[in-house]
Amino acid sequence: MAQLTVDIGGRPGVNCRGFCEYCYFKHVKETRPFGCRHCPPYQVGCDYCSRSVREYYQGWKTLREVGEDTLASLQMMTADLGRITISGGGDPSCYPEFTDLIELLSGMEVPLHIGYTSGKGFDEVAIADFLIDHGLSEVSFTVFSVDPRKRKRYMHDPTPEVSLRILERLCEEIDVFGAAVVLPGVNDGKYLEDTCSWLEERGAKGLILMRFANTTRQGLILGNAPVIRGHRIQTPGEFRDLVTDLAGRYSLKISGTPLWDPALGSPFAIRDEPDLLDKLPRLERSATVITGSIAAPAIQAILDARGGGVRVVAPEKEIACLITRDDLLELDLSVTDDPVIIPGRAFVHDRDAASALSRDGIQRAVLRGPEMLTADAETSMGMDRNGVLLMELEGFSDLIRLINRYGRER
Ligand code: SF4
Repeated sequence: MAQLTVDIGGRPGVNCRGFCEYCYFKHVKETRPFGCRHCPPYQVGCDYCSRSVREYYQGWKTLREVGEDTLASLQMMTADLGRITISGGGDPSCYPEFTDLIELLSGMEVPLHIGYTSGKGFDEVAIADFLIDHGLSEVSFTVFSVDPRKRKRYMHDPTPEVSLRILERLCEEIDVFGAAVVLPGVNDGKYLEDTCSWLEERGAKGLILMRFANTTRQGLILGNAPVIRGHRIQTPGEFRDLVTDLAGRYSLKISGTPLWDPALGSPFAIRDEPDLLDKLPRLERSATVITGSIAAPAIQAILDARGGGVRVVAPEKEIACLITRDDLLELDLSVTDDPVIIPGRAFVHDRDAASALSRDGIQRAVLRGPEMLTADAETSMGMDRNGVLLMELEGFSDLIRLINRYGRER
């Protein structure tokens, strides 16, 4: 069964009734294109790394445009349509023709899924039954806190009580995954426990907690750090402990992005599966692998288990997919052997990576690694452990094959 994603456009913050205080798109500046895996060899910057990454839409697409795009996508489809996901840069609940959009899509008679909404645009409780009656089967809903005053103050939701009643009604009938950026000192502690209990009692399927990012090191690469000046952040360890603790106390699935899904033991669940580790190819050559500082110890351990000889190094940047040229310039090249494998999705052009990693006068070949080695908690929310393990098996097999093909003789 095929899935169709319906993109309604919109700009984060602008088409959300104003920015939530913690929104990662707040203060985004015009930065020069980063370069990425999609860029042509002769040019740094393409549509993906200069526009899509900042969800740079002009504004909402009209209903007519959405209809035409949907029709075009359907015509390209060869398999039967199994589900439709509504997504965009803006918040779908704020889409001006939202009810017409739902009526249009419900005519296709497949389950609807709203990929993300904060509910800030919903002002009438009746919208919940409208959505249920028109085939909505799953929604990811940013709850932030079940204390309406917190929603009002930090999300700028004009009708927080209504939004929570809508969320409650949806929990009764369809699959609801709550989401909350954890703002230390604001919606954590007792407030977060209340939110977990509230969602559990009402039958939500899960809650994904997002670690608040306020620095470039954590991944704010669009010139927009800090999001909230002086606001405290949690270390990866503190956040992981919080997620583990809550996941053990509530029956709904609780996971944390970017780093921890306690129910699945991921990312890098394969570390605890000796039989699966044995299925990975053995390392025959060596190379340097660059990744984010959170993933580095796990990747090093897995590669060591397959023969070792590969050095995994990380800049301060915590997340591999958000590594830029500046991070490569920060690396100590005296511990960087040839060839160097950079993360498949790093925001750096191949040419820039080669010059940054040869700036000490030693030419190093630069290769791009697999796009994903594991599933972060956002990806794993709807997966089971076997699905994550399969993804890791494929990702690490590809990485080891790349090293064995292009690496240095040992
Ligand atoms: S609803 Fe989401 S995208 Fe819009 S401002 Fe809030 S956090 Fe940003």
